[in-house]
Formats: sequence, C-alpha cells, structure tokens
Amino acid sequence: MTQTTNARILDGKALADRMRTAMHDDVQALKNKHGRAPGLAVIIVGDDPASHVYVKNKKIGCEKAGITSFSHELPASTTQQHLLGLISELNHDPLVDGVLVQLPVPDHIDSKVILQAIDPGKDVDGFHPYNIGCLTVRQPSLRSCTPFGCMKLLEETGADLHGKEAVIVGASNIVGRPMALELLLAGATVTVCHRFTQDLKSHVERADILVAAAGKQGLIQGAWIKPGATVIDVGIHRRADGTLTGDVDFAEASKRAAWITPVPGGVGPMTITMLLYNTILAFRKHIGEPA
Ligand code: NAD
Repeated sequence: MTQTTNARILDGKALADRMRTAMHDDVQALKNKHGRAPGLAVIIVGDDPASHVYVKNKKIGCEKAGITSFSHELPASTTQQHLLGLISELNHDPLVDGVLVQLPVPDHIDSKVILQAIDPGKDVDGFHPYNIGCLTVRQPSLRSCTPFGCMKLLEETGADLHGKEAVIVGASNIVGRPMALELLLAGATVTVCHRFTQDLKSHVERADILVAAAGKQGLIQGAWIKPGATVIDVGIHRRADGTLTGDVDFAEASKRAAWITPVPGGVGPMTITMLLYNTILAFRKHIGEPA
C-alpha cells in the first residue's frame, strides 16, 4: 500500500553532508594558515557498547572533516580524581580545542562535576553551565549540539519563528532545556512539557513547531499534530527487527505536518555535525580569528 505523505522531509543527512563538505574546506584553509588543524579530545570511560559506537562515529566525523582527534579510552574502574586530572591536562593542552566526555559515565563518577571541570572555551558539547548561561542571556557561544542541529534543520524550512507556538516534549539538560532556550532566542513562544505535564495532547495540538525529545517510542500520536506544523523528532529507539524509530508516529504525523524529520536521517546526523562545527569555532576563538 502506498503511504499518503503530505509533509516535506527535513533531510538531516543531506544538510549534514553539505555542512561537513563546507567544514572540510574551512579546516583545510585554517590548517594552511595556522599550521595545525583544530583538535578534539574525546574521553570515554567504561565499556558501554552504544557509547563506543557514538565515540567511533565522532572520530570518523573528525577524520573526514580534517579535524585531529585525540582518543582517551579509560577503564570503568577509573576514579573521578583521575578523570578530573586528565580533563585538567587537556584544558591546558594547546593542541586541543575541544574536550568531550562521552555520557553516561559510570555511577561512581558525578557527571555534573565532570562537565563543570571542562574549560567552557573547550566545551564543544555545549553542556557546561557557563555555555547554557550564555544561551540564556542571548549571547550564544558553544551551543548544545542536538538543539543547535535542530535549529539548523528549522532554518531549512525558511520559516520565520517569531511568534510561533513552539512545544518541546522533554526537559533534559542536554536536549529539552537548551532547545527551549534556542527557540526562545529565535522569538518563538515556548512551552516545555515533561514527565509531570498533564494533558500532553492539548499542548502538542497547539504546536506550530513540535520538538519531541522524551525518549518514549511513539509517544506523540499523529492525530495530535496541528495541520501544517513542523515536527522535529529527536527520539531514537531500536525496534525488535533492528530498525530505528522515534518518539513520533511518523506515518500518521506526516499526513498532517508540513515538515517532518525522519528517524533515522533527521536529527541524528546533525548532532555530530554541530560537534565538528563547535570544534572549529573553539579553534577560531583560541587563535583569535573571527568566527
Ligand atoms: P532524558 O531521559 O534525559 O529526558 C527525557 C525527558 O522527557 C525528561 O525531561 C522527561 O521528564 C520527559 N518525559 C519522559 N516521559 C514523558 C512523557 N510521557 N511526557 C512528557 N515528557 C516526558 O532523555 P534525553 O537524553 O533528553 O533524550 C531524549 C531522546 O532523544 C532519547 O530517545 C535519546 O536517545 C534521544 N537523543 C537523540 C539525539 C540525537 O542526536 N538524535 C541526541 C540526544 C538524545
């Protein structure tokens, strides 16, 4: 049966490819001018298979863009003190422009302490309270990668976000909250829903822009989508057959939305792209070259 699809696809893979090609050229020019490429240090603690896949993809992304990556793979038994020591070294290393600690870290390590130990100027994940604060007071610097990638996808629609009703489902530190700040900065009227929100449907139904980031497969029903809305699905879930899906019922939602991100191929490719973008931006700041 042929699926009736009205929505236009917001193709994150295509946008990421375009941005990465431009970044590759940018990195070559910076390397010729300054004698070195931007450098990203990636720290992973423990054996979580999904985290190792994410780290591998980040390394491949760096290689393709011409960014130097420095890998630090630490055993699960690593102490918090040891990790803090390594972060301090990397904060002071002149060849390292970005420092990233892959989350989650083992339970005996306090991720809040770790993230705050990263030099805000090297915080290419954009998770440090300083960088979140910069976004809060409308002076964005290093911006959280996934929400920043969502904003790049929204730009692709060409729509002016001023005065639009934006509803975010999910309020985590790494996605929902910085996403709310991004949309507020863009002039939207922002509602943030979370696990204690009552009547989620009534909020979703009002959304001109919907960002689904609850991490609950199929939470957002297609019939809830406002006709003509733009739907950004951040959720990633693996079905029993190995395929990926998101928080939104894509088949039904795409009959009502004007624009929608697929899963996979929507937000996912943009997250690493914005990490590479932030690493180049941090490099420029370190050498005092305008962004
Ligand atoms: P999280 O678990 O830290 O946060 C989930 C948020 O959703 C919380 O604020 C919670 O209150 C809210 N929530 C949970 N159930 C809800 C419900 N029924 N109604 C309303 N709100 C509800 O998750 P996270 O790290 O923000 O990630 C969210 C999803 O996005 C996950 O599926 C994750 O895999 C995915 N993710 C994707 C990317 C990407 O690059 N595409 C990046 C980060 C996260």
